[in-house]
Amino acid sequence: MYKEKIAEIKNELKDLFNNVSDMQALENIKTEYMGKNGKITLLNGKIKEVPNEEKKEFGMAVNEIRNEFNEKYEKIKKNLEDAEINQKLASEAIDITLPGTTIKNGAPNILEKIVEEIESVFMSMGYDVVDGPEIEEDHYNFELLNIPKGHPARDAQDTFYVKDEDYLLRSQTSPVQARVMLASGGDKPIRMICPGKTYRRDADDATHSHQFMQIEGLLVDKNVSLSDLKGTFDVVVKKLFGESTKTRFRPSYYQFTEPSVETDISCFVCKGKGCSLCKNTGWITVSGAGIVHPNVLKNCGYDPKVWTGFAFGFGAERLAMLKYGINDIRTFYQTDLREIENFDRRED
Ligand SMILES: [Zn+2]
Repeated sequence: MYKEKIAEIKNELKDLFNNVSDMQALENIKTEYMGKNGKITLLNGKIKEVPNEEKKEFGMAVNEIRNEFNEKYEKIKKNLEDAEINQKLASEAIDITLPGTTIKNGAPNILEKIVEEIESVFMSMGYDVVDGPEIEEDHYNFELLNIPKGHPARDAQDTFYVKDEDYLLRSQTSPVQARVMLASGGDKPIRMICPGKTYRRDADDATHSHQFMQIEGLLVDKNVSLSDLKGTFDVVVKKLFGESTKTRFRPSYYQFTEPSVETDISCFVCKGKGCSLCKNTGWITVSGAGIVHPNVLKNCGYDPKVWTGFAFGFGAERLAMLKYGINDIRTFYQTDLREIENFDRRED
């Protein structure tokens, strides 16, 4: 009987082994035939039923089928593993003739760089860098700065109002100065700059942007004069545009300073001879400034009979455009990486 049983198992295995296609199927066959209750394993127990004179032959037959199984199993296992490795190698093949992938380096935004440069110059002179809200109250943005409701100076700063007439997107960073003066209680000197985003209802073109960045500053102390402002301005522009830079003040008018000036630097391209950048004047206007108006000091808690101060404002984009030869302000607010990379190269 056992001979038929062994022959039957051999036949089954032949079929199964011929059709095995993956390791899992192969392992399943192993369990089914060689596992604890496998068909081949169970043959061992049958020896009791075999007549004595056939026991030896039976034992040999069981050994034989077990050996055959193991041999076949190992062979198929190796073939499957080889196939898997070959497939992996084929799929992971590296074509060393392909061009490499360029890794893009990040670059600092040029506007940030200018702001950081200016911040570090002022910090070296003992100034604090102060931040303030971009959604501002009309009170801080205009009224405290000597620009009451209905005043024509408001027309020059076409403003985005966000709620009634009381809240707006700040049209200048000067309200931060008002906040600092009020917070300091009117009895302490102040040195501060407030770089930040500002907003006006300008139609965007090459030199106007509805969003732009101002760097305004304020110094409040006793006996402050225009010559202090001039000295400070000299230090800053020499740092930014080179030691040979000359400066001049021209009379101007702002509501929150009296007297007010526009500040020019000598053209760093033509060194004053006249070129297209300076429109043949030899001078480039870079900021507005002046002595803080007594009304502003008073509005913000400082006694104008005791305290004086100067204030100034730079346009960060204008400085960056001058310094890096950029001719369209919109460049700063578009996300064209090629432009940013260009800035990076200009630095090399
Ligand atoms: Zn020039």
